[in-house]
Amino acid sequence: MIIRDIKIGEVRIPLVTPFKTALRTVEAVENIVIMIETDSGETGFGEAPPTAVITGDTKGSIITAVRDFIAPSIKGMDIENLDGIMRKIHSCMLKNTSAKAAVDMAVYDLYAKNLKKPLYKILGGNRNTIETDLTISVNPIDEMVADSLQAVSHGFHILKVKVGKEGLRDIERIEAIRNAVGRDIIIRVDANQGWQPKEAVRIIRAMEDKDLDIDLVEQPVAAHDFHGMQYVTANVGTHILADESVFSVEDAIKIITEHGADLINIKLMKTGGIHEALKICAVADTYHVECMIGCMLESKIAVSAAAHLAAARGVITRADLDGPSLCLTDPYIGGPSYQGPCILMNEDYGIGIKEIKECILL
Ligand code: MG
Repeated sequence: MIIRDIKIGEVRIPLVTPFKTALRTVEAVENIVIMIETDSGETGFGEAPPTAVITGDTKGSIITAVRDFIAPSIKGMDIENLDGIMRKIHSCMLKNTSAKAAVDMAVYDLYAKNLKKPLYKILGGNRNTIETDLTISVNPIDEMVADSLQAVSHGFHILKVKVGKEGLRDIERIEAIRNAVGRDIIIRVDANQGWQPKEAVRIIRAMEDKDLDIDLVEQPVAAHDFHGMQYVTANVGTHILADESVFSVEDAIKIITEHGADLINIKLMKTGGIHEALKICAVADTYHVECMIGCMLESKIAVSAAAHLAAARGVITRADLDGPSLCLTDPYIGGPSYQGPCILMNEDYGIGIKEIKECILL
């Protein structure tokens, strides 16, 4: 199966409600999609959201990276030469992890299709169901409480609550949500770098003193503030999860060995795809550090690629793969099915996506 061409398109999917974090507000998913065409007639699908505030990748930079650097470096290669293709993708240019992730997952899609197996089975996995949390955007407290109650009524048992914009008032937010949803619901808190280190310790300790039973606090301080992450991790009892602080396997090794966090959030858009994400899983497994698999504002192609990885690795104990749940429409045919909090894997070959119904070719 030889790579003949790599087409680039764009999908636009409105969100059910605007997505708000300490870093940004977004109304619709506007993502780049990649279609790798082969001599056998199979197509591999990939996707990249331009998340400039986190990855630095914009729509223009993703298109240029794929069209002018990544595609020319792998055209004509045999899909069976997976390791060779991955080396080309990751050596043809620095950074641009979103563009690399889109091409990487399309290559893995084809690799599994060529072997006539679902991707998670090719990766050695056997989990057929994954439970994801649902993100609650940062808003006025009563709105967040209402959104949390609605999520629970839709069957979600795990909420990921966005905070980080209003310092100590975040304690009130979490307390109001905990009181509303009761103690059976798992609450995760994501500050998206919104706190200073001492402020973070104060807020997290207050949540501990109030017995709010928080599963973890994600990225309390700035991504580059490694000592701040160490300080928070050492001074609270709650698990600290590194998100924006860990892109590469090198970042993961530093965070793990120097205690910059208790847990790691793996996202394909940060690692540059499945190939690098597998390396982080291996390191984390070695050190007995659990991982979460997360996503940006991704739709079904990229989130399903992440779901296949999660289904294949026991070290991934938490899933934050709510991208498709946040989308109002589904422009794809095929792939795992998303039923409330459950992602159900199936026997479709590759990632499972068979067709994009609405896509603007670029
Ligand atoms: Mg996060």
